[in-house]
Amino acid sequence: MKNKLVIVTGVPGVGGTTLTEKAIEALKKEGINYKMVNFGTIMFEVAKSENLVEDRDQMRKLDPDTQKRIQKMAGRKISEMTADAPVIVDTHSTIKTPMGYLPGLPKWVLDELNPDIIVIVETTGDEILMRRLGDGSRNRDLESTGNIEEHQFMNRCAAMTYGVLTGATVKIIKNRDKLLEEGVEELLSVLK
Ligand code: AMP
Ligand code: MG
Repeated sequence: MKNKLVIVTGVPGVGGTTLTEKAIEALKKEGINYKMVNFGTIMFEVAKSENLVEDRDQMRKLDPDTQKRIQKMAGRKISEMTADAPVIVDTHSTIKTPMGYLPGLPKWVLDELNPDIIVIVETTGDEILMRRLGDGSRNRDLESTGNIEEHQFMNRCAAMTYGVLTGATVKIIKNRDKLLEEGVEELLSVLK
C-alpha cells in the first residue's frame, strides 16, 4: 500500500507548523512515524544556493516565474523523499505575492506529490494578525484582518481545486487561541 501523503496548509502565522509538529510528536508515542517536510525550507535551500535571497520571507517577492521554477524543483525533491514513509508536507495553499495569489500546488507539483488529504489550518483574521505581530523571528507581512480573511478565502478555493485535480479530500481544522490541543486532536484524526 502507498504511504499516506498529507499536505498541511494555512496562512503565515496561523500555526500550521506548530500544529503539525505536535501531531507528529503524539503519533511517535504510538509508534506511527511520519516524516515532516517543509516546502518553504526546500525552496529556500535552492533559492539560497542561487544567491536569489538571504531569508525565506524574501522568496514570495521574487518574480513569479522564478518562484514557479524553484517550486517545481522543490516538488520534485520532496516526491523523492516520500517513498519510504508516510509524509506531511508543511506548505501554503496560495502564496500572497506582489503579482497576486500564486498557487502553492499547481498541477505539475500535485502530479509529483499525489496527496491523499489537504488540510487547511484556519482561525479568525484578528487572531492571525495578533500572532504575526508577536512573531519577531520572521518578516511577516502586516496586513488588515480583512485582507487576511480574503487570503483564507482564496486558500479554500485553491485547496478545493487541488482536491478536484487529485481526488484528495480537503479538511478544514481550526487553530483557535488557547485551543491548540483541539486542533492537534483533529489533525491526529486524519493522520491515523
Ligand atoms: P513558510 O516558512 O512556510 O512560511 O514558507 C516560506 C516561504 O516559502 C513562503 O513565503 C513562500 O515564499 C515559500 N513557499 C512555501 N511553500 C510554497 C509553495 N507550495 N509554493 C511556492 N512557494 C512556497
Ligand atoms: Mg509554517
